[in-house]
Amino acid sequence: MGSGYKGKIPRKLHAFCISIVKWLPVIFTVALIIWSYYAYVYHLCFQIVTDDVERVLYLIGYHILFAFLMWAYCRTIFTETGRVPMKFKLPRAVLQKLEESDTAESEREILERFAEDLPITNRTMTGSIRYCEKCEHLKPDRAHHCSSCGECVLKMDHHCALLNTCVSFTNYKFFLLLLVYSLLYYLFIVLTTMLPLIECFHSGGRGMNCFHITSISLFFFAVIFALIFVCPFRFHYHLMLKNRTTLEALRSPIFLSGDDKDGFNLGKYRNFQEVFGETKMTWFLPIFTSLGDGSSFAVRAQDQLGSRNSANSAETSLDFGRIIP
Ligand SMILES: [Zn+2]
Ligand SMILES: [Zn+2]
Repeated sequence: MGSGYKGKIPRKLHAFCISIVKWLPVIFTVALIIWSYYAYVYHLCFQIVTDDVERVLYLIGYHILFAFLMWAYCRTIFTETGRVPMKFKLPRAVLQKLEESDTAESEREILERFAEDLPITNRTMTGSIRYCEKCEHLKPDRAHHCSSCGECVLKMDHHCALLNTCVSFTNYKFFLLLLVYSLLYYLFIVLTTMLPLIECFHSGGRGMNCFHITSISLFFFAVIFALIFVCPFRFHYHLMLKNRTTLEALRSPIFLSGDDKDGFNLGKYRNFQEVFGETKMTWFLPIFTSLGDGSSFAVRAQDQLGSRNSANSAETSLDFGRIIP
């Protein structure tokens, strides 16, 4: 009992330290955002900008972008990653059969039999049903095991260390909006800090003080971050229009008919709707409106047939090559 008690404390301490380290990038990012808020609102708007109308316009524009940025940021970080539904979990009896099977062929048969009524179209490189030994369930299409989260994640895009969460089915829309709002936020800061600073330089730097130095720092900070955000924005914009995750861009999903990087590509507008939903009013709000349940997805063949996510998707996959022109 004594040794068990001693063993628990370091384990808890270890887990706590790991958790703090994982949250450090988020804490650092929030600190930078708070600094940018203070520098913009107090130093620029209240100390440098002298025109009242200009100040009000700057403050309104800034606060709208700031609110949307923080909204999308919190939703991306704090939305729970999609967990694999229970119907994919292997019952104890099936697990026991798997353990007892001595050939890859019999294992494959057991998994195929269990997957018969599940909406699974993706396969492993050897053509078997995808199975996670750690979570003991079949993997739904596009789901992957995340070693950082320690579980399988639905429509996993990537694990983001800067956000300390997996970007996946449940928060992909928020993540894309976060990239858009971040870009707009930094561009707005660049454009609005530029004018008062140009005026200051034109006056030969007369009256330059610590408020100007902070604003110059803010200007360069915003330029750098706007440039940094352009790359992931362009990358994910391209992926979203192709209905492809980052993992699928690195390795094409495999179907019964073989690998196909455009297997989930339903056309640009439908791909956009898969993430942003069908209601235009909510497209650009960080509200969950993505289509589907995250465990089954329309594939190109199904889309052209005009049906979505049938339970018989394995059969549809067989038709894949025939239907696609
Ligand atoms: Zn797993
Ligand atoms: Zn993860």
